[in-house]
Amino acid sequence: MTVFNRSLLPLILTCLISFPVLSNEVNIYSARQEALIKPLLDKFSEQTAVKVNLVTGKGDALLTRLINEGENSPADILLTVDAGRLYRAQQANVLKPIDSSSIKELVPDNLKSSDNMWAGLSIRARVIIYSKDRVSAEDLDSYESLADEQWSGRICIRSSSNIYNQSMVAGMIAQNGLEKTEQWLQGFTANFARKPAGGDRDQIKAVAAGECDVAIANSYYLGHMLNSTDASQRSAAEKVSLFWPNQKDRGTHINISGAGITTSSKNTLNAEKLIAFLASDESQRWYAEKNNEFPIRENVEISPILQSWGPFLADKINVTQLGEYNSEAIKAMDRAGWR
Ligand code: FE
Repeated sequence: MTVFNRSLLPLILTCLISFPVLSNEVNIYSARQEALIKPLLDKFSEQTAVKVNLVTGKGDALLTRLINEGENSPADILLTVDAGRLYRAQQANVLKPIDSSSIKELVPDNLKSSDNMWAGLSIRARVIIYSKDRVSAEDLDSYESLADEQWSGRICIRSSSNIYNQSMVAGMIAQNGLEKTEQWLQGFTANFARKPAGGDRDQIKAVAAGECDVAIANSYYLGHMLNSTDASQRSAAEKVSLFWPNQKDRGTHINISGAGITTSSKNTLNAEKLIAFLASDESQRWYAEKNNEFPIRENVEISPILQSWGPFLADKINVTQLGEYNSEAIKAMDRAGWR
């Protein structure tokens, strides 16, 4: 029979005091709406017994909150959209390197930060939306060709303050150079049908309403509208088609939604586990389909709507460049008078 050794008691007590009880939690700040992420987080909790605490908000507001909270932030993960915004978070020192071999393996190199500061979890394509009545696909070619005179007064696009447009122009600077991009911006902005206003969905509606003939928008907005319970959104979406730009050269501009681990994270292992879970085949299928986006790997099946748009060649540049050229893009858009 083992007799409890009283002399060990002080040692046991010291151990209990000096090692705090590890909380089996992970805290996530998400720019994705609750309905678009919560079911996956619940599944993660079921499988791992890790409790997930979710705070949702707007992308820029969450980043400001992280910066203000600094080291005291309870957040472990920042989940947000656009590589340009993840790069901003990285520049603001609120993220730390992700040291996980599974995330490294699951996320293709061009879809994550070149120094492992964040990783892509879905792909969104920024496409040309055109009127079925007034435009034929043969008239379309590339983003670059939208600066041609034939598009004068026919293009709708949202404001240059929007990060999606900033990233699109940043990608163009990275590949075509600043000078060529400046020239393109002159012609492109001169072709606007109206002063930029509203979001991507509003540009699609404007094409349907005949205010313009083509628009640039993220493809998932068209997917949402086609699936909408609102008949007016569905009928607008049915008046337009999607065109994949730049199929003969650099490919259609893509961006990501993605996640990084915060500098203040106290549950880093759980944070890595959760990001790897979101990048897994099973989560990818649900996450991409729910958001009408594309999975980060080609082996994952896509939704019927996405399949109906056909395969496309995607731009292969590392999305980190979208962040690196962001400030140059903003200045160039401003010089061209794109407000
Ligand atoms: Fe969006």
